[in-house]
Amino acid sequence: MKIDILTLFPEMFTGFLNTSIIKRAIDKELVKVTLHDFREFSNDKHKHVDDYPYGGGQGMVLMCEPIVECLKTICSDKSMVILMSPQGSTLNHGLAVDLSHQEHLVIICGHYEGFDERIRNYVDMEISIGDYVLTGGELGSMVVSDAVIRLLDGAIKEDSHQDDSFSQGLLEYPQYTRPQCYDGNEVPAVLLSGHHENIRKWRKYQALKKTYLKRPDLLRSYQFDEESLEMMKKIEKND
Ligand code: SAM
Repeated sequence: MKIDILTLFPEMFTGFLNTSIIKRAIDKELVKVTLHDFREFSNDKHKHVDDYPYGGGQGMVLMCEPIVECLKTICSDKSMVILMSPQGSTLNHGLAVDLSHQEHLVIICGHYEGFDERIRNYVDMEISIGDYVLTGGELGSMVVSDAVIRLLDGAIKEDSHQDDSFSQGLLEYPQYTRPQCYDGNEVPAVLLSGHHENIRKWRKYQALKKTYLKRPDLLRSYQFDEESLEMMKKIEKND
């Protein structure tokens, strides 16, 4: 996969691209991430990329030309152009999965007061990372890229994201590691039993229970099988 990111602040990406799973995915050539400072595409001698809003008002607005000219050097008909925007569809697991099947993502990071509305004519979709306003699209583009890259084959062990929250429509079951007893709190005995079937059932029950307690909205679209229906009856009775 290729990810091209248009930003006025490429230095913000140094830590992100050089750390942990993202760095490993880049080193293994699962993904190639390229940063483009679209200021270089400004046609004015002071390299301005923003201007005052028509009609008056606070703040500066990003101009079309530098962004569109930059897009022209990057995009092909296989590119999916994404605008980071608080007005977009909110990122979730399903969207990250869809994006992970794309060959080429191009992500535009806004800044200042926003964009000239006409930039929207050149994008395929707008993505928000939540109902709040950030200073710029850089953090959002890292969130999108991270959520997508970890889903690429070989980025992490397949089974480590299979049980992740949202992958199967539920929150993940509780996890424990050493020591067996910490500050008087024991690891649940079933996890020490070595009995794989009992562990599987315990985890499924706990995942359903956590979801029921913390995110009951997810259960509306969860595909219940017979076993999970039985488990839900117990959970609802507070067993
Ligand atoms: N005035 C704009 C509005 O109210 O919709 C917000 C502009 S914001 C200060 C600057 C840029 O940050 C946006 O153009 C967008 O690229 C990015 N941004 C801000 N909040 C975001 C969010 N929740 N999700 C994704 N991108 C965001």
